[in-house]
Amino acid sequence: MQAYHYIWLKAHPERTEQWLQERLDDGFQIHHVDGDHFNDAVDNLLLIEKRDHFRLHRQATQLQKAITNHHKGYRGKPASTRTARNLDIGQAAYTLFMSIPNSNWDQIAVTLKRHISVVYAAAEDYAEANGLSLER
Ligand SMILES: [Zn+2]
Repeated sequence: MQAYHYIWLKAHPERTEQWLQERLDDGFQIHHVDGDHFNDAVDNLLLIEKRDHFRLHRQATQLQKAITNHHKGYRGKPASTRTARNLDIGQAAYTLFMSIPNSNWDQIAVTLKRHISVVYAAAEDYAEANGLSLER
């Protein structure tokens, strides 16, 4: 067992070391919620089944790809265009939401570093202005 397994156990006093070892033998793993594998804070550790763990990382990768593609459109453009990047938050939010089937507004708000209410309202405005729907 790794150091973070013992930290996880400390936060789950109802579980024994033997219980955790059995889960690990069954294929359970510890996921670092914030993606930082050096952050072993108790609230950053999640015991999760291997397949769900892969799924989680695949979703994070898809989200990152969508963001990169979105930002690519602005590379090398004049400053005035880059300023526009802050104005089209609605388009960014809408694009992310639609391109990633399992994404939710919470994730998109975190990704775009805006409050969820701002992100959702902007996406709604963008959709309405362009005759689009937020239904997936
Ligand atoms: Zn993980």
